[in-house]
This record gives sequence, structure tokens and C-alpha cells, in this order.
Amino acid sequence: AVQAARKNEFRQLRLDGVSRQFGGANALDKLSLTIERGEFIALLGPSGCGKSTALNCMAGLLPLTDGTIWLDEQRIDPLPPEKRGFGMVFQNYALFPHLSVSRNVGFGLKMRGVAGAEIDRRVAAALDTVQLQGHATKLPGQLSGGQQQRVAIARAIVIEPPLILMDEPLSNLDAKLRIEMRSEIRRIHRAQGCSTVYVTHDQDEAMAMADRVVVMKLGVVQQIGTPQEVFSRPAKLDIARFMGYRNVLPVKVAQADGSRVLVDGPGGVRLGGVAMQALDAGPAVAAIRPDEIVIGEGANAFAGTVESAEYGGREWLLQVRTAFDDLLYVRSPRNAGVGAAIMLSVPADRVLVYPAQEEAA
Ligand code: ATP
Repeated sequence: AVQAARKNEFRQLRLDGVSRQFGGANALDKLSLTIERGEFIALLGPSGCGKSTALNCMAGLLPLTDGTIWLDEQRIDPLPPEKRGFGMVFQNYALFPHLSVSRNVGFGLKMRGVAGAEIDRRVAAALDTVQLQGHATKLPGQLSGGQQQRVAIARAIVIEPPLILMDEPLSNLDAKLRIEMRSEIRRIHRAQGCSTVYVTHDQDEAMAMADRVVVMKLGVVQQIGTPQEVFSRPAKLDIARFMGYRNVLPVKVAQADGSRVLVDGPGGVRLGGVAMQALDAGPAVAAIRPDEIVIGEGANAFAGTVESAEYGGREWLLQVRTAFDDLLYVRSPRNAGVGAAIMLSVPADRVLVYPAQEEAA
């Protein structure tokens, strides 16, 4: 029945309170998420946060402990993987080594009893999409890692699934190819018109590829948003750290007016910032990314002395001693020079303030 729900014939996939326990421990805790047709969703988080568990629950490879999964009005969580008809791409490709590229790609269609001529036509189209036209008769062992991963993707899209599930598909490739394959996978996703759920622990990859990012920790969703939202407004201090907010300063809330807040840093420096959660007067923490601090006068200006400078290719990472207790990391296009006394400033909407108890958590 679900096989009829081919790529463009569904509206959304809905997960409602999906949970999975292992030996009493929650690997995935009440994941609720609606994925629209055509959306590219990244599940992002450190190792062990439950990303693969979530993906395997969607695929039907892992039974749920609790919750339901719906494809439009149809409940699909009781169905085995083959009845869901989703495409899967794994980190290790999982190709048959003794079958040619075209046999690997056509395997799923053959299992579904599709006629030979139709298989040939669809395999050719899939190989065309992943740009492997000339490699149909080769064995997987005769291909590079990147080409093998394209075969795995062709095998997933050839069944024209409503949803493609990818679990760290690029982690076995070298850094350069990984970056090339990001846009390649986006292109294939758009060409298919399906939805994609993509598991990764690499925030750059998630930011570059996804329409929406689901940030997870210990089996629990921390935030769901566009890459821009998650990057510029991390809902929790944890996520901010993960997103590169390397300067985390103890501060005191002096004045809070809705989301606008004034805080006092340890050296008595007053900063304007954005309250990321409800804040009481008293201790809080401010998080600032090194690339948001600029050298020179401006909003939220304060003095400092450069203690070290590390060249990073396009820019410098300076450590600057300020009136704050801690050293601040500052990313700068120029090297101000070790020992130099400089002025720093940071726009108030780039100073994110979280409750102090977030620091402990
Ligand atoms: P990774 O990127 O390392 O695969 P992940 O975010 O995908 O991590 P999961 O593999 O989903 O995380 O694991 C989530 C939690 O569930 C972990 O604590 C893991 O040890 C546990 N877990 C996963 N699979 C099993 C299993 N088959 N039996 C017992 N515990 C498991």
C-alpha cells in the first residue's frame, strides 16, 4: 500500500512521541517531528545522542518502544522496512561486491518484481542522476570511495522513495570529496523531489545541506530550526558551544527588558545582549563567537591586550586579556601584534545570555 506513496504523492511524514529504549535507558526520547515533502532534515549531535536510533526507527529497522509514525493519514510504524519503501544510504555503502554497478542499483526493483525492461530504464536514469553513466558494468571494487557512495545513493533513489534516510554517508570520504558530495547530495535530493533525513555529527555539513536542523543530545531534541536560527540563536548554552560560541563568560544580569538585557562582566564591563531564556536578576552566562568580536570602537566596547596570535590560514585567532577574568578568543583578519593594547567591540545582538544553571548542566 505504501509503495503507492511514491515520491510526489505524499504531503508529510510525521513522528509523534517516538521513543526507543535499550535495557531501560532512553536512546531516543519522545521525538516529535513533521517532515514536509521536499524538505532536507539533518539530525545533528555528538556520538551517542540517538541520531542513528531515530533514523532506524523511521526506516523500520528498529521497533519503537513508544510513539507512532505517520505517512499522511497512514500509520506506518507497525510496517516492516520493505513495506515502508524508504531509500537508505549508510556510511559503509553496503554494496554487493560480486554484483555489477547496475545489478547493485537494480537489486531492489528486482526484489519488488519489476519487469526487466523497466529495471533497465530506471537503473539508467538513476545512474544518470548520480553521474555514473559510464560505470554500469564495473564491480564496486573497481570504483573510488566517492563513486561507491554514488552507487549507494542511486540504489536508494531508484525505487523512487518518498523519503531517503542517510546515516553519515560521507564519513568514509576524504575532506575535499566530502565537501563536493554535499552539494551533489543536495542536487540529487532536489531532482528527486523526495524528503531526506540526514544523520551527521558535523555541524558544518548540517548547516550547508539542511533546510532544517534537529539538534539532539542524550536522546532528546534540543532545538529544531533553520541552519540560520540554530547558528545565530542556539536555544541552549550547550548548543551554542557546539556551534562555536567559544567565549563563555560569567556575568550578572543588571537589567532585563524582554529579550534585551544588560549584563555586567567580571571586570565591571557592561554589555548589552539578548536573553535566550527568561532571566532572573543575578548570575548568568554570556556566549560570544570569536568571529563576532571586532577590533575597534563600536557597540559594547572594551579594552584588552593581545596575549597570543595564531595564524589559521585566512585569519588570525587572537587571545586577548581584557578586564574580564578569562581570555577572550577573537577571530580577526589582521594580527594586531602580541602585546598590543586594542579596543574590542561586539554588537549587542551577538551577545547571547543564558541562565547561570545552564553552565552547570
Ligand atoms: P553514533 O554517531 O556514534 O552512531 P548516534 O547519535 O547515532 O551515535 P545511537 O547509535 O542512536 O547514537 O545511540 C544512542 C544510544 O543508544 C547510545 O547510548 C547507544 O549506546 C545506545 N544504543 C544504540 N543501539 C543500541 C543497541 N542495539 N543496544 C543497546 N544500546 C544501544
